[in-house]
Amino acid sequence: MRVGFIGLGNMGAPMAANLATAGHDVTGHDLAAPCPEGVTRAASGVEAARGAEVVITMLPDGAILRKVAAELIPAMETGAILLDCSTVDVDSARAVADQAAQAGLMALDAPVSGGVGGAQAGTLTFMVGGPEEAHARALPLFEVMGAKAVHCGPAGNGQAAKICNNMILGATMIVTCEAFALADKLGLSRQAMFDVVSTSSGQSWSMTTYCPAPGIGPASPADNGYRPGFAADLMLKDLRLSQQAAESHDADTPLGLAAMRLYATFVEEEGGTGTDFSAMLPRFEGRGRGDN
Ligand code: NAD
Repeated sequence: MRVGFIGLGNMGAPMAANLATAGHDVTGHDLAAPCPEGVTRAASGVEAARGAEVVITMLPDGAILRKVAAELIPAMETGAILLDCSTVDVDSARAVADQAAQAGLMALDAPVSGGVGGAQAGTLTFMVGGPEEAHARALPLFEVMGAKAVHCGPAGNGQAAKICNNMILGATMIVTCEAFALADKLGLSRQAMFDVVSTSSGQSWSMTTYCPAPGIGPASPADNGYRPGFAADLMLKDLRLSQQAAESHDADTPLGLAAMRLYATFVEEEGGTGTDFSAMLPRFEGRGRGDN
């Protein structure tokens, strides 16, 4: 397929490179980042989009997506697909989809889970919102870049699935870290804690797959000095998006709100920026009940 790829950062570059390696004709553009091998460089997003069957965007946020989409859409051919893989607010995803539909294009919002490692290995999970037909046509690309592409419904539903998933993840990681810090104070070994919880009803991905305690369970960022992995800053971004959505749709999400506030404090006031989101455990270790 002829693919335009806008946003060749930490995630976009390996995704575009995998598409080129698989034999797709990929033209890329980024304001700052270099083009990966196999991808033809375009001087602008518009140039990358011209003649493409699918234009993929992998950008920092919804405001940038709206701006870039407004430039790309008039340059795209009727019937082409605008496939946004960035994590953005649901309202921006739906606004861009409306604009694309008015121009005779199809839009998909397809945020990913799996991080830079998943992007490099081509094992991302895509959560896809938009027309069924566009999802089916984009499947060969999803299959190269990822292991799974779940169709979640109409425009914006991919972003909705992503922020709901990450709201669960953020709150679950926090409480898993709290529990380890409490167990320490109770004299319960971390290994015993892991052995029990990973096979009991407190079990979660945060415990069994991404254990925040170094030296316990499978290898995770905790074993690598809490280098990300999934950065606390990105978790904060996603928790803010879930609160923005909860506010605009009048949903009561007290634990999601608490998780957002805690990651904001951690990232913005306590030096958590640039660390993995599981570095909440060393944060809790040093704290007592008076520290709130
Ligand atoms: P990044 O900052 O490394 O990449 C974004 C790229 O977009 C940058 O290279 C930037 O120069 C480029 N860009 C910005 N404005 C542009 C414009 N107008 N035209 C062209 N290029 C432009 O970010 P990333 O880590 O690759 O993340 C991209 C998206 O994926 C974000 O929405 C993020 O939330 C999401 N995401 C990231 C991860 C992760 O682990 N990094 C995991 C899941 C989802």
